[in-house]
Amino acid sequence: MAEEKNLVKCSNCGQEVPREEVFQEADQFLCEECYLDKHQKIKACDPWGVYSKKVLRKRADQEGTDGLTDLQKKIYEFIVSRNGATPAEMVKELKVSPNELQNQIAILRHCELLKGQDRDGVIYVVPW
Ligand SMILES: [Zn+2]
Repeated sequence: MAEEKNLVKCSNCGQEVPREEVFQEADQFLCEECYLDKHQKIKACDPWGVYSKKVLRKRADQEGTDGLTDLQKKIYEFIVSRNGATPAEMVKELKVSPNELQNQIAILRHCELLKGQDRDGVIYVVPW
């Protein structure tokens, strides 16, 4: 019996992506690329949330994980300590839901702290 792949079509670009990698927004499903695209202008790298751009600029000399949420720090430090981990490992070790993890990684990637890396066909999240 063939394994059924649960693919979802991105509402924006039509690309088929695994259901667990898709972002749901209202009645739309978006692939990560489109999701980030859509939110880039609004959210950009903004783990600091309420800080204005002016304040952000003052904080620009602060490096690394300053200003991140505890969960974002936890994810970042986990990745750094292992020099890369798969999302599955993070879900298991950090006890975070796949959706939450995906959102946090998207933010960290925007901050140029983490990025994806293909290691022999397995996607790892590694330090930027
Ligand atoms: Zn898309």
